Amino acid sequence: MMTSSPLPASTNQRIDGARLWDLLMDLAQIGATPKGGVRRLTLTEVDRRGRERFRTHCEAAGLAVRVDAIGNMFARRPGRDPARLPVLMGSHLDSQPSGGKFDGALGVLAGLEVIRSLNDLAIETAAPIELVNWTDEEGSRFGHSLMGSGVWAGVYPLAKVEALTDAEGISVKQALDGIGFAGPERAAAFPADAYFELHIEQGPILEREGRTIGIVTGAQAQVWYDAVCTGRDSHAGTTPPSMRRDALVGAARVIALVDRLMRARGEDGRGTVGQLVVVPNSRNVVPGEVRFSVEFRHPDDTQIAELARDFPALARAEADAAGVALELTELFRIPAQPFDCGCIDLVRQAAARLGYPAREIVSGAGHDAVYVARHVPTAMIFTPCKDGLSHNEAESILPEEAAAGCQVLFEAVLARANRAL
Ligand SMILES: [Zn+2]
Repeated sequence: MMTSSPLPASTNQRIDGARLWDLLMDLAQIGATPKGGVRRLTLTEVDRRGRERFRTHCEAAGLAVRVDAIGNMFARRPGRDPARLPVLMGSHLDSQPSGGKFDGALGVLAGLEVIRSLNDLAIETAAPIELVNWTDEEGSRFGHSLMGSGVWAGVYPLAKVEALTDAEGISVKQALDGIGFAGPERAAAFPADAYFELHIEQGPILEREGRTIGIVTGAQAQVWYDAVCTGRDSHAGTTPPSMRRDALVGAARVIALVDRLMRARGEDGRGTVGQLVVVPNSRNVVPGEVRFSVEFRHPDDTQIAELARDFPALARAEADAAGVALELTELFRIPAQPFDCGCIDLVRQAAARLGYPAREIVSGAGHDAVYVARHVPTAMIFTPCKDGLSHNEAESILPEEAAAGCQVLFEAVLARANRAL
């Protein structure tokens, strides 16, 4: 999907797309699944091997690697001017249990390719450049996504996160120690000039429109709930309608409400019930309890504020109509996070200079960049993925799409690191 536009005069400095692809395929061997995906759960032995491979590559490229207390890895390439703050780039190397080869890995390894290209081209930047591998972006082992960037950004206290346990009762702290990645650095935001994260879109828009680059302008607002409908278990064959207090019927009404509220907000609305636990889950028992998740997302803060205000009462009315109780707990509400105009502009200019078809896009998924953006001017670059599919072993991108994203990352980072102050 790359265009054949001639290179503009402003640059002839190209990253090595084939070398980047080799790096992606090489890392994908670590935790490779039979169906062509990756299982590299955070802070496991497989994650350790991925991290060690990454460290080896960084050191071979002349970078000094530091590790902080939550296992975030920082690899610095010095700049000419020691007074300048570093320009950061990166993403994450952990994956979902049956994840793809590119979610996260693309951003980290493209950053490595940027460094290698700077080295090959003997480019000295004014500001240092620092490549980051954030710990546990996915949240699938300890139930807490954006862990490393969240601790770094001060959103989550380190001690609280260290105490979280996985399904086998192993704590984050034990897991960090177990793979030797509880580093000596303090896990806290340090001053930085900018942060750029390249990531696959994980959605269908770029592919559908034939665009190579997504200029990510920010991330959408979210509100998440835990819900419990409580009725009464009773015999499916003997309980007449007037006596039933069916928790699943109540939950079904709430689920339909979530869908209605989403659709009332047009194509930008998102509303999902993705988890449902029916108790006792027996075919001849009227269910007495149903636990489920609810989440809404929207690019516009006011829409999420409106939902957070109205949804609980509307949901309770649905449960009431089914004769069951509803307990709703708001887990968290994240405001929309706009990215930095200056950083977005560098991405936009790079894509235009290179002649890549591009569009502005709001991130539908959570990313480390969303928390980093609370402290550091931030932008993201999206590249397409086949059928918009991600968190799936079949996740797939084209080598030229990876190269295009990496080239835009290269130009944006280089421009930022050499900007006039
Ligand atoms: Zn990711």
